[in-house]
Amino acid sequence: MQLCKVCSEQTPKYKCPTCKIRYCSLSCYKLHKDSCLPVEKPPPNSTKRTVSTDTWSNEDFLDEDDITDAVPVEKLCLLGHSKELKDLLCNPHLRELLRTIDSANSKEQAMNAAMQEPLFVEFSNQCLKIVEQEDA
Ligand SMILES: [Zn+2]
Ligand SMILES: [Zn+2]
Repeated sequence: MQLCKVCSEQTPKYKCPTCKIRYCSLSCYKLHKDSCLPVEKPPPNSTKRTVSTDTWSNEDFLDEDDITDAVPVEKLCLLGHSKELKDLLCNPHLRELLRTIDSANSKEQAMNAAMQEPLFVEFSNQCLKIVEQEDA
């Protein structure tokens, strides 16, 4: 349960239009207004950087844009061109697994569940193999 950010006593009913904090009453708003700071907006071209790196497996892990930090683009292209991966992805069961992970509320949980599937393990091993083979 939330409390008014100004007096910390009442349930907040209102939201400051500038900084979005919640407050309970006009008197609290008057108090707050003096110290109100607008919510910081990230500069337009740095928004992509806000993708948190410690949750890569939780967020659209098949989205190339989001994992380019971890995997160089040219290797992602290799993934896309890999015949082995394409063969694996011909399997409707695997596609279903990936869809499940993609739409799961908890991607981590879904990933863990998927790792119980030999097919998915094979798929992720194949991905890793392709990503790593250039370094070998
Ligand atoms: Zn208040
Ligand atoms: Zn405010």
